[in-house]
Amino acid sequence: MHSYFYSFGEERLLWRLESLHQHYISNAKSSNRNNQNDGENSRERINLNEIDELARNMFPPCMRSIHDTLRREHHLKHYGRLYYGLFLKAAGLSMDDSMEFFRNELSIKNPEKFQKEYSYTIRYIYGKAGKRVQLSAYSCQKIVNENAPGPNDTHGCPFRHFDVKNLKALLVRYGINNDNDLEEIVQKVTAEKSYTGACAKYFSVKFGQDIPDQSVYHPNQYFLAARRAVNNPIQQNQSNVEEGETVKQDSNETNDLINDDVDLF
Ligand code: SF4
Repeated sequence: MHSYFYSFGEERLLWRLESLHQHYISNAKSSNRNNQNDGENSRERINLNEIDELARNMFPPCMRSIHDTLRREHHLKHYGRLYYGLFLKAAGLSMDDSMEFFRNELSIKNPEKFQKEYSYTIRYIYGKAGKRVQLSAYSCQKIVNENAPGPNDTHGCPFRHFDVKNLKALLVRYGINNDNDLEEIVQKVTAEKSYTGACAKYFSVKFGQDIPDQSVYHPNQYFLAARRAVNNPIQQNQSNVEEGETVKQDSNETNDLINDDVDLF
């Protein structure tokens, strides 16, 4: 991933909204204070056999990019493993499935390291090792502002951390083929410095409807909204009143998934 830095001033307002949602925790959150939850109780689980399709169709660009790299290179550096592992857990992947998924990929190049080091990270993520606490997935604010990726890293927000050439190439690869759409997304980044705004525009182009709340503040919020958009494409044709009700419902459900019990490492 190529770094390309901008100032954050014009996104300050959005960050204020995001700060309310930073504590977005696994949707498998019930009884997490007892460290019993490894995804088995999640309301919406995801399974290993659907993960490629979900990544292709519903994951936000930041997580799809990590997924693609993992499949292609069978390797992820620390923050890539951490960000993606936390995202998958919050998306509803059980610890056993997560272990199998990462083992299948990371063991190809380095089976010993997987056993000694990487498997520990996965157990840590699910509260089964180390401090044994439930860890939340990273919000957009954290991904954009913290742990800036180096040349060989795959974590980070493409809208924030890719240069324009690489961002355009990624967007085209991810299905944004209309020049006007492409330019509009890139303009959000270059002219407005609105990285989450660019992501929201990407969402609306992909799914033909705006993301609920009109903003992206968390990769798992994006994924839930994308899943709903795919399952209910007809919503975009409903009346304003119905759309308003849908948005309100989505917001309530999202807020249900937000927890203030966070302990990142
Ligand atoms: S705005 Fe957030 S969800 Fe979208 S790509 Fe960036 S970090 Fe991921």
